Amino acid sequence: MDFDTPLAEAWVRAIAAAVEKEQSRLTELDSAIGDGDHGSNLHRGFTAALTALDGLEPAGPGAVLTKTGTTLISKVGGASGPLYGKAFRAIGTALPEPAGPAAVAEALSAGLDAVRLLGKAEPGDKTIVDAWTPAVAAFRAAAATGATLPEAAAAAADAAEQGARDTVPLQARKGRASYLGERSIGHQDPGATSTALLFRTLAESLTT
Ligand code: ADP
Ligand code: MG
Repeated sequence: MDFDTPLAEAWVRAIAAAVEKEQSRLTELDSAIGDGDHGSNLHRGFTAALTALDGLEPAGPGAVLTKTGTTLISKVGGASGPLYGKAFRAIGTALPEPAGPAAVAEALSAGLDAVRLLGKAEPGDKTIVDAWTPAVAAFRAAAATGATLPEAAAAAADAAEQGARDTVPLQARKGRASYLGERSIGHQDPGATSTALLFRTLAESLTT
């Protein structure tokens, strides 16, 4: 099984559905250490991405993800819009067709590079990087040992969820939450939480 155009579309639709379902949780997390708009930011962005995809004759899975990224950048004002937007554009640009596990690992890694280039966050800064980094590492390690795409994506989703949970004791050093200083400790980062959703929905899209 390869990462093809139907899978790319299914992934974006699954993200939109998951964001809608988890919107209030993401908002709650962002209310604790931010301004409470992370859920609505992503809901607006991925709803717009679905509309954009409806009118698109995609030239491949990369084009689907690139279009999604461009839409997120133009529709989401918060920090997460440009960060996720750049990530999806980088993944889309890096994704060959057809893409097997190793190629998908490299594309996801390009997404992480784009996030880090724009946001300048290091692992441990309590951001989406803290879920994305272990997810890419797990995906790559699985691919290197011959895992299938569903297996590699499941490993990445588990790692992203652990990474998100591991943000709880961290003090935020980037973004709005960093204004709270030590008061950001003890809360799970909203962006790391939504990154875990991205990887979980990828794994689910590969098994349904
Ligand atoms: P805003 O902070 O502008 O309200 P959101 O609420 O949509 O935007 O997104 C907040 C999330 O963005 C944070 O939980 C954090 O994970 C992520 N974030 C903020 N700044 C950065 C950064 N510089 N690098 C990576 N992620 C970041
Ligand atoms: Mg916010």
